Amino acid sequence: MKDEKNYHGMGLGTIAIHAGQRPDPTTGAIMMPVYQTSTYVQPELGRHLGYEYARTHNPTREAFEGNVAALESGTHGIAFASGLAATDTMLKLMSAGDHVICGEGVYGGTYRLFSKVLARMGIEFTFVDSADTEALRAAITPRTKLIHLETPTNPMMQLTDIAAAAEVARAAGALLSVDNTFASPYNQRPLELGADIVIHSVTKYVNGHSDMVGGMIVVKDDGLHEQLRFLQNAAGGIPGPWDCWLGLRGTKTLHLRMKAHNENGQRIAEWLDAHPKVEAVYYPGLPHHPQHELAKRQMRGFTGMVSIEMGTLEKAAAFVNKVRIFALAESLGGVESLIGHPALMTHASVPRDLRYAMGLTDGLVRLSCGVEDVEDLIADLEQALEHA
Ligand SMILES: *Cc1c(COP(=O)(O)O)cnc(C)c1O
Repeated sequence: MKDEKNYHGMGLGTIAIHAGQRPDPTTGAIMMPVYQTSTYVQPELGRHLGYEYARTHNPTREAFEGNVAALESGTHGIAFASGLAATDTMLKLMSAGDHVICGEGVYGGTYRLFSKVLARMGIEFTFVDSADTEALRAAITPRTKLIHLETPTNPMMQLTDIAAAAEVARAAGALLSVDNTFASPYNQRPLELGADIVIHSVTKYVNGHSDMVGGMIVVKDDGLHEQLRFLQNAAGGIPGPWDCWLGLRGTKTLHLRMKAHNENGQRIAEWLDAHPKVEAVYYPGLPHHPQHELAKRQMRGFTGMVSIEMGTLEKAAAFVNKVRIFALAESLGGVESLIGHPALMTHASVPRDLRYAMGLTDGLVRLSCGVEDVEDLIADLEQALEHA
């Protein structure tokens, strides 16, 4: 059930709603059905309808894969049960003895997978500040096969110049993969900037409704797709059809949601920036962000993710405990606003001195601004800040 239409040159909203899908051939149902099946009946021995076993093929999954691939300006999507399952399978492109350069600010789970699991299997990792192109270049060895980075980073909102990193990778004969979870394909499309692989935790903005966990790899090269498709089937970390359906339902409004997340993020960042109790605001859309020019160059909008420095753990705790609309929770990118304390929540396993070297202090608070009415969100933050 491959989608034969080509949405090349069309707007992201049209792609979000249509790519990867077509009406159900038996009934004309406009929505992709949930093909909740493990196997497919074969009309006779040696002949099947393109579907044999559901680890390998599932129509609902294929629709979701085609949809996100088109959103990322790629040609192939490969879906997984979680963002980390996607990253894990991508790393299976490596063999023992290969060297990987990884951005220092990557998701904590990615750091844990690389340093505590895959390093044991003979893959060598060097963690560098990927915002510094020269540091990336200096870390290259003759065995470097992959550069992996995240931009913007969580929670310090540091950017990496994707086009510059792609040049470093190309010169070294290495692949560049970019975890685009924080930006979403609405705001940033790394494949257009020279990256070879895009990774998503579709759990976040791509699905956008906080009701599933999933991952995706997108590529634009047929050979790379073939290798990754082999690995997806060989290792088997696939998502179920129901989660793929939820992901597809989510992407239909990606452009509408991201526009609203961007607007609310910008308004709230500006409001917090002017608040006397907030010591610093980290948001690429603010003119004083050190990489604001790069942000304007490689991103279309700056998302709903805003981090702020409250000064002390006591002030941060008083603030996050008093919000009413924002919910105190991990994760991000859903339509509802969330608030979190990275030092005690998402980054609790990172040693304190390492955290502080990144600017990730005990006073840091991270907001995932949802798409509620922005006046209500600001009023909520205002009343909570009174307690800080
Ligand atoms: C959440 C997240 C992941 C991990 O994805 P899961 O779906 O939770 O496995 C990877 N990268 C980033 C940037 C994330 O925010």
